[in-house]
Amino acid sequence: MAEILTACTGCGRAMTPGTVLYDAEARPICDACFQKADLIATDRRAADNIRKAGYVCLAAGIASLFAPVAIGFQIACVVVTLTSGVYALQSLARGNERFTKHLTPVQQRLVWVCTIAGIALSALSLMGVNIARFVY
Ligand SMILES: [Zn+2]
Repeated sequence: MAEILTACTGCGRAMTPGTVLYDAEARPICDACFQKADLIATDRRAADNIRKAGYVCLAAGIASLFAPVAIGFQIACVVVTLTSGVYALQSLARGNERFTKHLTPVQQRLVWVCTIAGIALSALSLMGVNIARFVY
């Protein structure tokens, strides 16, 4: 009995029914293409994390201006700002095109701006510009 072969959408290789896998769009693909697609999905997620780190950096930077100094909340915010900021900047640095190519130039610029602003705000906060001081 002849097996019905399915062609891989990615590379065109003929696959026996037992080896057919499906990608996110339910197209039949072979194992090799499945692994490749999975890698790209992982890279996209990494690119997404870079973007989020930029936003977290800005949010934490703003938070560190408002966070009460007394209970150490400000320091926690500054730590979050710097951690995500350094991560975002390192990720955007040259040699990381594998991830950054999944970000548009506008998104990349946005991450830069958010990160720089976040770090600047937490630096201001450490220099004593803390709104919580006036509120509480
Ligand atoms: Zn294939």
